[in-house]
Amino acid sequence: LATPMAIMVGTGRGATAGVLIRNAEALERLESVDTLVVDKTGTLTEGRPEVVQVTAANGFSERDGATLAAAGEVGSEHPLAAAIARHAARLSIEVPRADEFAAVPGKGVVARVGGRRVAFGNAAMMQDLGVPLEGIADAAEALARRGQTVMFLAVDGRLAGVVSVADPIKKSTPEAIAALHGEGLRIVMLTGDSRVSAEAVARELGIDEVRAEVLPGEKRQVVAELQRQGRIVAMAGDGAHDAPALAEAAVGIAMGTGADVAIERAGITPVKGDLRAIVRARRLSRAPMRNIRQNLFLAFVYNAIGVPVAAGVLYPVLGTLISPIWAGAAMTLSSVSVIGNALRLRHVAL
Ligand code: ADP
Ligand code: MG
Repeated sequence: LATPMAIMVGTGRGATAGVLIRNAEALERLESVDTLVVDKTGTLTEGRPEVVQVTAANGFSERDGATLAAAGEVGSEHPLAAAIARHAARLSIEVPRADEFAAVPGKGVVARVGGRRVAFGNAAMMQDLGVPLEGIADAAEALARRGQTVMFLAVDGRLAGVVSVADPIKKSTPEAIAALHGEGLRIVMLTGDSRVSAEAVARELGIDEVRAEVLPGEKRQVVAELQRQGRIVAMAGDGAHDAPALAEAAVGIAMGTGADVAIERAGITPVKGDLRAIVRARRLSRAPMRNIRQNLFLAFVYNAIGVPVAAGVLYPVLGTLISPIWAGAAMTLSSVSVIGNALRLRHVAL
């Protein structure tokens, strides 16, 4: 009773504060975490990018660029694809049909649009396809330095345009970062985005370390590597690609606004996708452990006194024994004390 009551009331307290806790281990481990790895898109940022600018190249118009990018993204579920689609809709573009669609995780998409080979994605994708970026690389870097995500459009192997997208930082993020630093945590940002744009965001937020241009499949390895260095890592993410990294970390934290797979793998889920909930969860993690110790004391103190007295240690001196009625009452009282103490957790300040 001493342990499950504290865990149950503690997780209930978490739930009322907007933090879902899967099990006691997650809560217990969170107390010892010293490093928080956070995914950028959807965790630090809103996860709802919007197109800022389309720059055309090599005789294509901006409208061609927006049209072909939108056609290429039709089969993609990536948030960037949604941004491209919204942009095309704003310009009342009728998106042409695309076939032979393929998504390249962490890089972009390729498709065939009206007989033309369209590729849309990051610099690494252009490099893989052998599309030269000279002439545009400086402009692209300037956009990235402002924290924007820059994507390149290639048509039949030639650069046709650059699309830059901005994903605003969540309003709660700066305060959350400050509070997490206050807890003594080292914060590592993990993202598939380019180094330049990742560093721009990290600088703005005062993040300690940046791991950029990480492919979706490599996120788990980054967590594993930090743990090998002796860090105790909590990983916060929202995407389906983050799920293996969440499972690898000592504590997986899934944004409640994110993918279901991520939530399934996570020990802790801030319901509203608010990072400040991690600080609350950490404060909460200390209270039940202390409460369990108090409960164990309360559970044993009755026995430690009652059993020897009942066995007759005081009988030769005082003639005292414990009648079954008092023994029964003490038994009940010990349970009541434990429950009463555990219920105090409902009022822990978070
Ligand atoms: P994150 O870690 O930020 O979620 P991803 O691994 O999903 O990033 O993607 C990394 C980069 O690959 C993006 O910043 C973008 O440049 C490019 N990319 C990925 N998917 C797409 C797509 N569907 N369309 C265009 N670019 C994409
Ligand atoms: Mg992502």
